[in-house]
Amino acid sequence: ADIAMGKAKLNRQGASGAYAYYSQNLNAQVSSQLELESALRRALHGDEFYLVFQPKYRIQGAELVGAETLIRWRDPERGIQSPADFIPAAEKSDLIQELDAWVLDRACRYAAQWSAQGIQPSRIAVNLSAKSFTAQLPQSVAALMRRYAISPDWLELEITESALMNSEGEVISIMNGLLALRLTLTLDDFGTGYSSLTYLKRFPISCIKIDQSFVRDLSEDESDATIVRAIISLGVNLGLDVIAEGVETEAQREFLMSHHCNAFQGYLFSRPLPLQDFEKLVRERRPGTQSAGSHS
Ligand code: C2E
Ligand code: CA
Ligand code: CA
Repeated sequence: ADIAMGKAKLNRQGASGAYAYYSQNLNAQVSSQLELESALRRALHGDEFYLVFQPKYRIQGAELVGAETLIRWRDPERGIQSPADFIPAAEKSDLIQELDAWVLDRACRYAAQWSAQGIQPSRIAVNLSAKSFTAQLPQSVAALMRRYAISPDWLELEITESALMNSEGEVISIMNGLLALRLTLTLDDFGTGYSSLTYLKRFPISCIKIDQSFVRDLSEDESDATIVRAIISLGVNLGLDVIAEGVETEAQREFLMSHHCNAFQGYLFSRPLPLQDFEKLVRERRPGTQSAGSHS
């Protein structure tokens, strides 16, 4: 009964509602979720997380425009863990809010260090889970920006459509709070969720990011190519910035460039970089020059 209750609690927001039946299988599922949660809690307090930075480039001229921060977990027992393996578990509990807050704090702290070294601002994008997109968010971001004394040109937030599913008034008020701080807001994984056109009309988003699932087969799959073309033209005509992720080949980059996509990120120019390597990149950055020297 206790295990079923634990599962029901995890399901609170899910489609199956707040009840669950016990089964042997459930036993294993719940205990592995609980084990992972307690390992993540320990990791948060034991400094086992760190960030890597994937550069984002303007498509014309390949100038560095910023980077996406991606979290990694150095688990003392199992080695380096990818977020795909632990973010879903963190999202089932309230841990994700602590994790996202930690990433945001780190990103601001690095930005402050670079800024103090005289480095020109690059937008450092932080991924926020829907659960972190709350009415308190603008206030907490404002507090961080004051604490680290950084200009808003250093910060960008990436949210997915799931963050927009709350009441419209609430979402707009959070977004307006963030825009008042002059932050950039990017709608991530565009094309994979509802991709509701009314979102683009109603919500003050600065940028949409085309999901890598469409970019992957761009050169072979005619329907992916059509979708990508449509997203770019929709975004550009609405006055939004459009970035593509997962760009691995020159052919993909050329396609995006010929359809006037604004920016891209992907293995073609750079994998996510460790702190020191990214730092080197922003330090050497000269606006308007080719800065894609780092194929690691
Ligand atoms: P995402 O936000 O869509 O991030 C893009 C993922 O694609 C990253 O995987 C990145 O390493 C990978 N990627 C980048 N370029 C390429 C490429 O050219 N080819 C291929 N095949 N993959 C590429 P990663 O780092 O494993 O992150 C997975 C997901 O975990 C992210 O998807 C995001 O949803 C989540 N995540 C990562 N860091 C955070 C975080 O700090 N907070 C939250 N809430 N979620 C995070
Ligand atoms: Ca992202
Ligand atoms: Ca994505």
